Parts: sequence; structure tokens; C-alpha cells
Amino acid sequence: MRVLIIEDEERLNNILKKGFVEDGFAVDQAFDGEEGQFLAENEDYDLIVLDLMLPKIDGIEVCKNLRAKNIRTPILMLTARSTVEDKIKGLDSGADDYITKPFSFMEFRSRVHALIRRSHKNTSPILEIDNLKLNPLSHKVTRDGKIINLTPKEFAILELLMRNSGEVVTRTKIIEHVWDYNFEGMSNIVDVLVVTLRKKIDKEYKKKLIKTIHGVGYTI
Ligand code: CA
Repeated sequence: MRVLIIEDEERLNNILKKGFVEDGFAVDQAFDGEEGQFLAENEDYDLIVLDLMLPKIDGIEVCKNLRAKNIRTPILMLTARSTVEDKIKGLDSGADDYITKPFSFMEFRSRVHALIRRSHKNTSPILEIDNLKLNPLSHKVTRDGKIINLTPKEFAILELLMRNSGEVVTRTKIIEHVWDYNFEGMSNIVDVLVVTLRKKIDKEYKKKLIKTIHGVGYTI
């Protein structure tokens, strides 16, 4: 999962980034509305965290502009204001949810996961394919009840494949959703990670879940 944080308070932006990174997300940061809008229009995010009061273009405008351009990425709005009117304004501009500052990271995290779940039309927090289960909140992966230990990137790739189960996920899409803007890795990094992921997920089972679509990408 890849997120964009648009927040001009550097400290808060960095704290949120740290939390996301620990959760295995790829994170891009913007510190004003203009930069944020540019990134949101040009990169493919699973979620945007958008502060309301921002330099250059404020959060409400950024939100309206993105929706006007048909960018439907879920938006979680951060607001220091707590009047009903402001909340309504935020939601009316196209935000999917809002959280009032100051907030606990725990609450923030559960709202983030709920929004991502909603946007992928998953109602259960646990992703399940055959006897393979993945819990995005606890980061636990099991197959046939047996715990499988994955690195953060392996986990992120598996989560992306499982959220798009039945569809082919291209290498480009994997790179866009698992790495941030500064990614300058080897071109075969995805294939290398899928090899190790397969060893852990499929090797000792007769039924192989991860399939290669040659020249395109992977599917589960
Ligand atoms: Ca602000």
C-alpha cells in the first residue's frame, strides 16, 4: 500500500510517516497544497492523508480539485477545527473521512485501515484466499494455520496481490504501490521478491497460489 501525506507541520508529517513505514506502507510526503496536489495527480496512491489548513492551496481546495479531475483515491482529512460546519465542509468537498487533531495514532491507524478496506470493497479486515490468510492490522500471515514470516516488502506485495485477487497485477503496479517516489531499485527487484515470497507461501504446498502471467505480472 502506498500513501501520500499532505501536512505542513513537519513534525506531525514525519510521525505519521514513521507509523506508516512501520506498518509496511510506502510513503510520500508533501508539505503544502500545491506539491500535494501535484503528487496526487501524478502518482497512484491507495490513500491520501490531507491536512485542512495548508500553505498555497488549502485542503478543501485540494480535495475539490482532485475529485473534479476524477481522482477517487480515498482521502482522510486532518482538521484542527471541530465545528460541525467544518466537518461537513470537508466531507462535502469529497473527503471520505476526517479526524480531529490532536488524535491518537491508534485511532488514526484504524481509520486508515477501514478506509482502505472500504475502497477495496473488503468488509472483513482479514484477507483470505484458499487456506492463506493475511491480517493487514496485525501483519500476521498464515497458511493452513501455520505462521509465515515475511519481510515488509514481501508482505506488501502479498497484500497487494490478495486485495486484487483474480486480477493480474503488473510489475509496474507493484512498484507503484509498494515503493515510494524515491525508488531507484533494480529493475528485477519485483521478480526477486516474488521468488522468495513463493518459497515461503507455496513451496511446501501442492496447490500453488501465486501465478506468473508471463511478460505481464502476477496473480493470486
Ligand atoms: Ca496545517
